[in-house]
Amino acid sequence: MSELLNVVILGSGCAGNTAAVYTARANLQPLVLEGHEPGGQLSITTDVENFPGFPEGIQGPALIENMKQQAQRFGATYKHGRVLHADLCNRPFTLELEDGEKIQARTVIIATGASARWLNLPNEQKLIGHGVSSCATCDGFFFRGRKIMVIGGGDSAMEEANFLSRFGSEVAIVHRSGTFRASKIMLDRAQKNPKIKFITNTVVEDVYDVAKGEVTGVKLRNVKTHEVYDREVDGFFVAIGHIPNTKPFAGQLDLDADGYIITHGGARTNIAGVFHAGDVQDRTYRQAITAAGAGCMAAIEAERFLEAEGH
Ligand code: NDP
Repeated sequence: MSELLNVVILGSGCAGNTAAVYTARANLQPLVLEGHEPGGQLSITTDVENFPGFPEGIQGPALIENMKQQAQRFGATYKHGRVLHADLCNRPFTLELEDGEKIQARTVIIATGASARWLNLPNEQKLIGHGVSSCATCDGFFFRGRKIMVIGGGDSAMEEANFLSRFGSEVAIVHRSGTFRASKIMLDRAQKNPKIKFITNTVVEDVYDVAKGEVTGVKLRNVKTHEVYDREVDGFFVAIGHIPNTKPFAGQLDLDADGYIITHGGARTNIAGVFHAGDVQDRTYRQAITAAGAGCMAAIEAERFLEAEGH
């Protein structure tokens, strides 16, 4: 068992890094467990144009790296790894990592974010990395001059389709209805992009070809006409939202039906000393700047909690 830490921050996205900057500056020497996607969603994004302070925008990975260096400057330490089990019912809290190491903490800030949602098609998981992807920034380059399909009707789908249009010969956005959750500006941009085509009121029945070991096409179904047809495609990008990473805390933290942490005011969970920050609790705003703000709130609450407990 490691020494007893004041603050352990789970997750190293915008929320976790901001909580690290604040708790480090409060001299609490936080430990950040980076999780299985260090840097969170910004680490797989390109241009961030809406984070205040960067008039020309900034690349997502650069923004994250800056935050990390800022936190390290004040004494935060970072460690690879992910929590497998958490005992939040007894104090100090115990966090067990994948490699079996156990960490004890007086306070825990949960900033574990949310992971990509999949369609659960019969062949989808078998073809991940062979044409199926949830990350345009990571995999778009592989589809230079090829046919790309993006699934979804939200901002993620529009953003991915626009980005992928730099590479693909064509990009088809397939959406299950005719109305879009995407913001007007993002939808307009996609609609004006000559490389992007929209296929609405359509669901994907499956992606193939597993025997060939790569994506060669999809089976689509129009939900209005019930027509089922095949379409050739090389890159299949799923952009249908995210699932909060709260599995290790189920049964201890109050979670809603979709697994998001239910807030008990500010950054507080139902357990004193355990705080939330970012997309793991926020299903409404989900922006880098709101996650950063939430990380700040969690840090201030952790600091006050420790002070009240005499640490
Ligand atoms: P959203 O939840 O906004 O949209 C998910 C989309 O996927 C919806 O169109 C939904 O369809 C569709 N969908 C969900 N499940 C399925 C399924 N099983 N089969 C087919 N389609 C499905 O998620 P996003 O990831 O797009 O966005 C999340 C948040 O992040 C939003 O707040 C968004 O504004 C923000 N964001 C902002 C960006 C930016 O500003 N640059 C970029 C990307 C995201 P339906 O509408 O029918 O439910």
